Amino acid sequence: MAPRHLTIDPESDAFNKVVRLEGQVEAVSKALLFRSLYQVEDSDVPQVVIEGVRRYFILLRHLFEKFLRRGLDLANGAQTLDQFVEMINIKYFACMPAARREAAHHWPGIIWFQRLQMLLENQNLSLDQAIIDGWHWFLTPGQYPSRNRGPCVLAWKAMDDVQQHAFLERFRIDESALRKTASGTPVPDLSDPSIQELEARGLRRLFLLHLGIGLDVEHPKVEKPTGWDWSDCLICTVPLVVDEIDTRSEHRPVQTVCGHVFGYACLQKWFDQKKESCPTCRQDFQWTETYQASPEEVLRSADRCLRWSGPPCTFQAGVAPHSALDKFLLVFEPAHEIRRAMLRTGFAAEVMRKERLQLQELEGFVARDRLDAVLKGDVHGYQSAVQLQWQVFARLEWFRFVSSWHPYAPPVEYLQL
Ligand SMILES: [Zn+2]
Ligand SMILES: [Zn+2]
Repeated sequence: MAPRHLTIDPESDAFNKVVRLEGQVEAVSKALLFRSLYQVEDSDVPQVVIEGVRRYFILLRHLFEKFLRRGLDLANGAQTLDQFVEMINIKYFACMPAARREAAHHWPGIIWFQRLQMLLENQNLSLDQAIIDGWHWFLTPGQYPSRNRGPCVLAWKAMDDVQQHAFLERFRIDESALRKTASGTPVPDLSDPSIQELEARGLRRLFLLHLGIGLDVEHPKVEKPTGWDWSDCLICTVPLVVDEIDTRSEHRPVQTVCGHVFGYACLQKWFDQKKESCPTCRQDFQWTETYQASPEEVLRSADRCLRWSGPPCTFQAGVAPHSALDKFLLVFEPAHEIRRAMLRTGFAAEVMRKERLQLQELEGFVARDRLDAVLKGDVHGYQSAVQLQWQVFARLEWFRFVSSWHPYAPPVEYLQL
């Protein structure tokens, strides 16, 4: 089976269903993810809930990127259970490295994604209602297979009905809400240290999520060793010195959250290679607390990373303030309007690919400038950085949409899982 979107005749009803539904869910989830990078306006909602929403929207995107785009239509792709199992075995497990192919371990997740897709394709539900229902379901114990969701569930339950309702309203898909998101970012008190922290965290996340660059201050948190059942560094096997605990010695003993003890320099080298698990027991640190670097350290680190990028491209947003956003919002038009807009776009995959790469780099530079403006207390610089961020974001998303769904798009490469 070819990836699903290539099998769809752009004149058919299925185009309407698939392009609008999946395009809109993706667009909204990305817009909300982007907004949640910088949570100035969400300060009344507990941090772990925000974190939970981010994870939930990442899962929505997984459904499209890992399954549907590869022709793994979980809800409709098989008529019988046997066919379903066969489809997953052939198309999902077969392209995994042998070591990761422990099928039983993956099934609960696959079943979860299957039900999520059924929910989103339920004609009796509006799309925003389906997204809200999915969120409740994400929080139901025993449903989504994750061990780390507990604190989010507790914090959610601690919110009262009014707060929960107000929070869920933001999942509603409507154009004016998206426009507001783009233009309505209030300028916070830039001299407030907690705002500076928040902004630094936004920049770190944007680098990690959008650009795939973990800043070199973006390390899982380590602690002073608490037990005494260690003697050598587990990486280089050089004996560790108890007296060096909590000193500035390069190879001082430090302990990871899983309790393993290493020389700091060795562990840092390990983390610098973008390895986010314990070198000894492989516990995944991806979602654990990270070292709290100061906003100034984060900015310096961003500068170190961007040194290797070319100079930022110039970006013409056209008529201010919403020109690129307008294009992005076409995703919410009826199917025939989307089709017409796409055909007007023309399609030159290579040109688009190049501009996308440039824009992605520009995203990094603008995020850097935003934090720089915050630390300088430059309100005007802050406003123009935020405005430009939204323009770049919207244009990037429109490109992604067009290159995924354009009737003449070349086949998607079969990505490795
Ligand atoms: Zn060592
Ligand atoms: Zn460990």
